[in-house]
Amino acid sequence: MKFTTFEDLKQAEIINRWGRHSMTVSVYLIDGMMIDTGPFKKKDEMIQLFSQWSPEQVVLTHHHEDHTGMAAWAQNKVRIPLYIHEAGVSHCIEEMKLPLYRRVFWGERPPFSPIPIGDTHESLNYTWKVIHTPGHADDHIALFNQEKGWMIGGDLYVHPKPKSAFAFESFPVMAESLRKILCYDFDTYICSHAGVLPKGRQAIQKKLEYLENVISEVQYLEGLGLTPREIHKKMFPKRHAMHLLSFFENSPRHIVNSVLSK
Ligand SMILES: [Zn+2]
Repeated sequence: MKFTTFEDLKQAEIINRWGRHSMTVSVYLIDGMMIDTGPFKKKDEMIQLFSQWSPEQVVLTHHHEDHTGMAAWAQNKVRIPLYIHEAGVSHCIEEMKLPLYRRVFWGERPPFSPIPIGDTHESLNYTWKVIHTPGHADDHIALFNQEKGWMIGGDLYVHPKPKSAFAFESFPVMAESLRKILCYDFDTYICSHAGVLPKGRQAIQKKLEYLENVISEVQYLEGLGLTPREIHKKMFPKRHAMHLLSFFENSPRHIVNSVLSK
């Protein structure tokens, strides 16, 4: 685990290795409020972190297992309130049927009962605007702090130019969510995978531009009469081990399908 501090924000970056592959996910603490719980796979490290940070509450950016794996433990052992967007509550109270590769990579996600979060949310000294930002997950939220000019964005950014997508993701909906957060006056963007981006506004603008270009190109090629398969082979010809490992739950084909089904 790697620790970083940015003003009054604490970041713990959890590094997860699996053979030659590695992925990181970060949890944050600000003003007594913990953002996400980390994965169940890193249970021992996470339990230590909870006792070190002593959060008073947890806000979950969305229901995915790398963000909520320790939520049931936090609810039952630390007995602190956990909040999520109302669309996420039903995902969390039920057992999560994860594909094997995700279960192996991040661990299980035991069920728990979160509280639906409102349009604004309070920590000890700050008020946070809660912005519903679907596209990566239907219950995804971003948290805006006007006083600091910060946007906590969960998995909305992650990568500036994604060339693959999960079956549950939608590029057009993601683009809408990026446009939505750009209506707020922030510079610093705090990402669950890419960390703290002080020039976050520019990063979000660039990603939005990329998504808009991809969307127009898919539509253009469809207009020329190409099939969805021909479009993704042409636009994203590179194969990645993740496509196979995930049995194509992660694949460029989902980018194309999400544009054409819109
Ligand atoms: Zn996610």
